[in-house]
Amino acid sequence: MTETTGRNKTVSSICCYCGTGCGVLIQSDGQRLTSVEGDPTHPANLGRLCSKGRTLADTTGKPGARLLYPEQRLAKDAPRQRVAWDDAIETAADRIAAAVAQHGPNSVAFYLSGQLLTEDYYVFNKLTRAVVGTNNVDTNSRLCMSSAVAGYKATLGADAPPACYEDIDQADVVLIAGSNMAYAHPVLFRRLEAAKAANPAMKVIVIDPRRTDTASLADLFLPILPGTDVALFHAMLNVLVWDDLLDRDYIEQHTEGFAKLKDRLREFTPRAAADICGISEEDIVTAARWFGRAGAALSFYTMGLNQSAAGTDKNAALIHLHLATGQIGKPGAGPFSLTGQPNAMGGREVGGLSNLLSAHRDLANPEHRAEVAAIWGVDSIPAEPGLPAIELFEAAAKGQIKVLWVVCTNPAQSLPDQALVRRALEKVDFVIVQEAFAGSETLPYADLVLPASTWPEKDGTVTNSERRISRVRAALPAPGEARHDWIIARDVAQALEARLRPLRPTLFPYDDGSQVFAEHVVTTAGRDLDITGLSYAVLDEIGPQQWPFPAGATSGKARLYQDGRFATPSGRARFVDIGYRPVAENVSAQYPLRLTTGRLRDHWHTMSRTALVPGLTRHVEEPVLSLNQRDLDRFHLKNGDLARIKSRRGAIVLPVEADDNLRPGMAFLPMHWGGAYMAGNGVNALTLGKVDPVSRQPELKHAAITLEPARLP
Ligand code: SF4
Repeated sequence: MTETTGRNKTVSSICCYCGTGCGVLIQSDGQRLTSVEGDPTHPANLGRLCSKGRTLADTTGKPGARLLYPEQRLAKDAPRQRVAWDDAIETAADRIAAAVAQHGPNSVAFYLSGQLLTEDYYVFNKLTRAVVGTNNVDTNSRLCMSSAVAGYKATLGADAPPACYEDIDQADVVLIAGSNMAYAHPVLFRRLEAAKAANPAMKVIVIDPRRTDTASLADLFLPILPGTDVALFHAMLNVLVWDDLLDRDYIEQHTEGFAKLKDRLREFTPRAAADICGISEEDIVTAARWFGRAGAALSFYTMGLNQSAAGTDKNAALIHLHLATGQIGKPGAGPFSLTGQPNAMGGREVGGLSNLLSAHRDLANPEHRAEVAAIWGVDSIPAEPGLPAIELFEAAAKGQIKVLWVVCTNPAQSLPDQALVRRALEKVDFVIVQEAFAGSETLPYADLVLPASTWPEKDGTVTNSERRISRVRAALPAPGEARHDWIIARDVAQALEARLRPLRPTLFPYDDGSQVFAEHVVTTAGRDLDITGLSYAVLDEIGPQQWPFPAGATSGKARLYQDGRFATPSGRARFVDIGYRPVAENVSAQYPLRLTTGRLRDHWHTMSRTALVPGLTRHVEEPVLSLNQRDLDRFHLKNGDLARIKSRRGAIVLPVEADDNLRPGMAFLPMHWGGAYMAGNGVNALTLGKVDPVSRQPELKHAAITLEPARLP
């Protein structure tokens, strides 16, 4: 809440970095932040903060770091110049209306961000589908969580993480797959460390191609080859069958499809999987037995499973282990996908992916389209599928997108196959970039720049990894002429309505974020995420709550599926008959090294904020390619040498370092640095845009590369 003493103000809000969603207490003197501390009353962190959260106060107020005024390019290739907000809004509406008139609504596309608040996401979704008339609205959460969405829906029937953070304290086996929690979700990792210290019998299994800091907590570490997770999980299930560690009653009463999958498991013996995964047969058997004998087994997973051309299958194969053992819907148990971004969940809830609609509805379902159209008061929602992120930029590169509106994200740096993305941004007739920070590598492509507010200036809601909705509250006014994201969307929507649906009442009658939230609440009635009992006033009174929270509830729901009923038509969870598919781009004689990418402890995404904090940049000061000493020798390199790192799509030059946390043949690059640090090309010059066939999430976690010695020019 907010307390004021003289000019000093303290507000409770949420950290803007990861999906842990830690509560923070922000102190300000009205002009600048004076401190940020962990909120001891917030259930997500109970007062803890990590290095990024603790230094949030240093991320604002740096001269030159922020965009302060709208800017427009008055002619192609002319420099942008400052324009008035009214002109900027009219220009955006003019360009979108012209594209719709000349090329149809699908020539317009929106690319949003998991950093946005739920209210921002809601208004942009409505603008796209109800006014522009296209479903071309996608988000950088496509790069982050879409495989988790697809995995949950394939097996449990709904996109709903069934567990909660308290389960960490009650688990006795914790399996962490493809997640460096110690760096990416540090407060949850600290909680896990504390839980393990309190319960020495707890077993932690870590599965990762790289021995990360998270693996330091492991009782069993499985350094699998990239992309081989499905083979491992199937082999573990095979062991559960053979050792009779299944919960047969649970399978019988609450699931379907097990018999068919069981047939397939015959090919995934521990011996066969050991060969595929590059680990020992004994370790696979041990992992399976620990999981199968657990009183309560909890799994955490994130990008290592999600950012894969087989991401949906990997998610489903892990969830199978929980279904087969009844390890779901009870304290200390469940398959728990950790969200990368602070509001990846909120974006999903309002339909912030091109294939979704409000309140977890599916665009492909005619009834769902009709329900949303009725709530919004429009004739219909377009049925034609929208473009997911990678396909959106591929279409743009072919000249099919005439207006692209990028909001609070940096695709020129963060999307895979950077050369293609940059070609796409050049090809689009009119690029709108709505952004808070001046350092975005997407800004040079903008014809119109709309300066946005950012944490800690925003007011609204976010949902964290455990389905907990929290209030975000403003501690400072936005600098210059920067405006809130949903207000910019509302204003352009109303200007577009005057052009595209004249003489009809506006669909955007909002003066305040609470009205947007209230409309979102209405869309959730009767849905799995029913929050008809929530409002800003309720959240302010009783604090952050997990969904569902239907009308009449007095608290949210910590765990889902406790009654064994799932969100499928039959009410049964599904075992999915899936096989193992190797990585999309395998190594070859020409590209013999397996590159994987990931986060560092003290940086976030493309470093818009974290690069402003000297205390964070000191942890790792520059990007380095890590690889096993044997590979350094093989390429005639030594520690600190510069190497040209090449993939089939591009090349960058960086120093190399020996790292015995990687097996021979593996290489690792942090994901954060872009072209500003590497003579124009960032890490994603190397990665590929091959996507999962269901989730459409790209395989950012693996690319085949080679090296050669290099010198600075
Ligand atoms: Fe912020 Fe995540 Fe750190 Fe919590 S764990 S303080 S949400 S970055």
